[in-house]
Order: sequence, then structure tokens, then C-alpha cells
Amino acid sequence: MILRLILGDQLNHRHSWYADGPDPAVTYVLLEMRQETDYARHHIQKVMAFFAAMRGFAEHLKGLGHRVAYRRLDDPENRQTLEGNLRDLTAALKAERLEYQLPDEWRLDQQLRALGDALGLPVEACDTEHFLTEREAVGRFFAGKKTYLLENFYRAERKRLGYLMQPDGTPEGGAWNFDAENREPLPKGHRVPEPFMETQDLSELHALIERAGVQTMGRCEDPAQFGWVTTREAALRLLEAFAKTCLPLFGTYEDAMSTRSWAVYHSRLSFAMNVKLLSPAEVVERCIDEYRARPEAISLAQIEGFVRQIVGWREYMRGIYWAEMPRFATLNFFGHDRPLPGWFWTGETRMNCLKHALGQSLDRAYAHHIQRLMVIGNFALLMGADPDAVDAWYLGVYIDAVEWVEITNTRGMSQYADGGIVGSKPYVSSGAYIARMSDYCGGCLYNVKEKTGANACPFNALYWHFYERNRVLLEKNPRIGMAYKTWDKMAAPQREALLAKAEDTLSRLEAL
Ligand code: FAD
Ligand code: SF4
Repeated sequence: MILRLILGDQLNHRHSWYADGPDPAVTYVLLEMRQETDYARHHIQKVMAFFAAMRGFAEHLKGLGHRVAYRRLDDPENRQTLEGNLRDLTAALKAERLEYQLPDEWRLDQQLRALGDALGLPVEACDTEHFLTEREAVGRFFAGKKTYLLENFYRAERKRLGYLMQPDGTPEGGAWNFDAENREPLPKGHRVPEPFMETQDLSELHALIERAGVQTMGRCEDPAQFGWVTTREAALRLLEAFAKTCLPLFGTYEDAMSTRSWAVYHSRLSFAMNVKLLSPAEVVERCIDEYRARPEAISLAQIEGFVRQIVGWREYMRGIYWAEMPRFATLNFFGHDRPLPGWFWTGETRMNCLKHALGQSLDRAYAHHIQRLMVIGNFALLMGADPDAVDAWYLGVYIDAVEWVEITNTRGMSQYADGGIVGSKPYVSSGAYIARMSDYCGGCLYNVKEKTGANACPFNALYWHFYERNRVLLEKNPRIGMAYKTWDKMAAPQREALLAKAEDTLSRLEAL
């Protein structure tokens, strides 16, 4: 008997393991475990989505005639750890070998590497056959270079894969990047279509997780109307809906934020991709097909913006993770050490942008990229939050949060705690950016135009405080020079007032 372990984020229907049909000498093993529910405090919807997707996948394999050993969280024989469960199953099934797919998390990679010795079994690892590149591809691509640069990697990948390329090897439309045509705020009166949703009843699973005493965060208002897709069929329908309805305006409103729409034109495909129900290649190719079929409705700028996220950012982040872990998880370039305010777990703050972005994260286990980066992450960085605390929050709260893509985005892109491995400068802004890209400020108790008064938007003074307190670390960065020039040109009393306002804000973060 061979045991083949399938982790909760390895639900790849098209893996070559299954290509030859059922084999009575192979048992597939899927395990719901406290080891996985407890290594971070996850959003309740995230735990539900993972278990529901695993259960669905196990049923799919059984339907094809495969042997499956599935342990539910409350099964009496569940040892709640990988090693404990595999030890039992090895003995019970008289297994002679363990096979697994390479995990995407460093933590599990370490654990699985040690398993062979622990179990006294030969162990074999294979690829997940999901990503467009190998684990080490980004590390190899940038070997010997001082910095990683997404753009170089992205262009090389476009050429290698032939996505949106002309026969002469140049990019379609003569440019690699159409950002200038994208990233508009939503116009007044613009109606975003209702997000495509399919619901399922996960009441029993919800009750089981609660009964087991798993410590979670966030809310699941109605488990009988659970809104995340957890099967391949449903994920394919979500992809279809995105290609048909959202792709035509994806790039244009990629950075827009609105109280009127929680998903804007985003795909919400990250969970389905991260658990491997969908492959990045099929998502990108389906969307390119739609672009080819409807060129009058979908401009090159829209599809390029989308392809860049998946072929570029997603693979790039994974590659950086494997090139830089475990050191990456310890980096704290600014030495920030403040805890996050308690309202990160309730959404109860008077800052309307954060109230919306946090409230939506807690209600739906989802916020789109700019809410994560320019509202929540921006505030955490400006206030000097401890990157460990910020990572733990992001790793818990989002439906798609798996460490390889969470930590590189959070500690790297958003908090610049890596000192510039992922991005070339910190993503910080004053309230002006949020005012330009959203309708949050109109409904806020603070005034985005005020800098130091009692009602001033907290982002404004914190922005300058951030630059001033980190001057030694940032001043020489060629992409930041302008900020210091502007700051230095300000009259001394104005600078002092801004710093005093920021100090006052930092002293009463809980009350903001
Ligand atoms: P869309 O906007 O529709 O984009 C399409 C796809 O592109 C996404 O599904 C995703 O697979 C990919 N993508 C887009 N941006 C990125 C990026 N920066 N890095 C990697 N892939 C990207 N993404 C996660 O999957 N898991 C996380 O835990 C996660 N944490 C983040 C934390 C912070 C602080 C920030 C700034 C970003 C984070 N992201 C994370 C990246 C991105 O915000 C999400 O992938 C995206 O919001 C998911 O929603 P969507 O599927 O609607 O994306
Ligand atoms: Fe956010 Fe400031 Fe705008 Fe209020 S005024 S919504 S705090 S950016």
C-alpha cells in the first residue's frame, strides 16, 4: 500500500497522480487537523472554506473510484497532527511508502522532510503541477543581482509562455504595461454589477468547528448561505462570470475603492487558485480567450492588467518566498514594534476607510488589493506596527491567506519590513490618495484636507512622521527623494505641528 498525502491547499483535480485511474494499492489521505486550525487564528470562513473544499475533493476522488482515507476534525481517531495521523494510517493500512506533493509553506516543508525518519518509511515528494514556474525559478532568475524586479521577471515569463505576445517576440500593443490607462476611481453614479455569488449550506461544518473550540476571528453571519466557492465546478462558474462581466473593466477600476461595492471588478478567484481547484494557466488562458472573442468590449489594458497579477505578481511572490525563507519571516527593517489597535478585530473605528476595509475583511474574509495595501497596510506601516502582528492578522483574516503569498505581500510589499526585497519603496500615502481613489472620505468624521486640526485625517500627519522618523533609512532611496524635498521646504512651525499631531495620534490609537 502507498499512502498519498493531499494537503488542504493541494486540491488539483488534474494532477498526474489521478491520470491512470484508481489503483487499489494507493490510498489518498486528507486530514482536517488542529495542527492546521491552530497555527494561526484564522477567519471562521477560511476554516470552513478549506474543510468544505477538502471534503468536496475527497468525494470527487471517491466518485472516480479511488481509495480515500479522510479524517474529519471530530473523528475520535483523529490525532490532530500530521505525524500522529500518518503513523496510525501507516500501521492500519500496512503502508510501505508515503508520497506527498511539495507543500507551498516552509513550515510544512520542514515537517514533511522530517517525516520519513519519524515514520520509518521511504518518502517520495513530487510537484503539485499547479504553478507556471518552479519553486526556485525566481531565485535562479535573479541570482547574482542586487534586487528582485518584478518587471524583468514578468517580461521573461510573458515571452516564455507566449501570453499576449506577437510572433516577432514583442508584446501585443507594443508595450508591456498599460497602467496609465488603468487605475481610475469609480465615477459618481457608476453602478458596479452585483458580484456573482453561489451559496451553499455549511451550517453543520460551522457548528462542528465551534463545538471543537477552534479559536477563530471574523464573522460568518449565515453559515447556511456560505458564499465562497469550494468545488472545481463552482470555481469554473466564478471564472466564467468574471471573464464575462468583470474583465471588461478590471484594469480600469483595479485600484478603485467604494462603499457601494466590496469586490468592485475583482475576480475573487484567489481562494480557488490557492487551494489549486483552478490553475493559473487555465484562468489566464480563459480570460485571454474572452479578450480575443470580444476585443470591442475588452481592451488590451484590461487583460494585460489581469495577466500581470497572475503570471507576474503571483509567481514572483512565490519565488521570493522560497528564495528568502526562513529569514524573510524575521525581517523588520524599521524596527517597528507597536501592537495593532483592538479595532483591527472589530472594525470599530471612526476612520471611515478603515471601518469599511476592516469591516468587510471581518464580514467576508475578503478585501481587494488596494484596500489591503493602501488602507489597512498603509495605516499599519504609518503607525509603526510590529510586522509580526501585521503578518499574524493578515494570515488569519483573508480567505486566500497562505503564507507564501501572505507574508511576501504583507511583510514585503505592504510593510517594507524586508528593506526592499519585494518592492523598491514603501507603499505609504496621506489621506489624499484614499480620497482620490475612493468615496470613503465623504462619510468620514475626519477631514481629509486638514493636516493638524482636531478633526484632521490621521493619515496626513502620520505620513510625514513616518518619513521623518525613518529618514536615515529612506533618504537615499532615489524613488523617495521628492518626499524629503517637500518636507524640507515646509516652514519649521508647520513641520513641528505635523510631528506633534502625529505623536498625539500615536498616543491614542485605540480611540481613533
Ligand atoms: P484580483 O484582483 O481579481 O486578481 C487576480 C489574481 O491575481 C488574484 O486572485 C491573485 O491570485 C493574483 N494577484 C493579484 N495581486 C497579487 C499579489 N500582489 N500577489 C500575489 N498574487 C496576486 N493574495 C493571496 O492570494 N493571499 C494572501 O494572503 C494575500 N495577502 C495580501 C496581503 C497584503 C498586505 C496585500 C497588499 C496583498 C495580499 N494578497 C494576497 C494579494 C492580493 O491582494 C490578493 O491576491 C487579491 O486581493 C485576491 O483577490 P482577487 O482574487 O479578487 O484578486
Ligand atoms: Fe480615511 Fe482620512 Fe478619508 Fe477618513 S478622511 S476616510 S481617515 S483617508
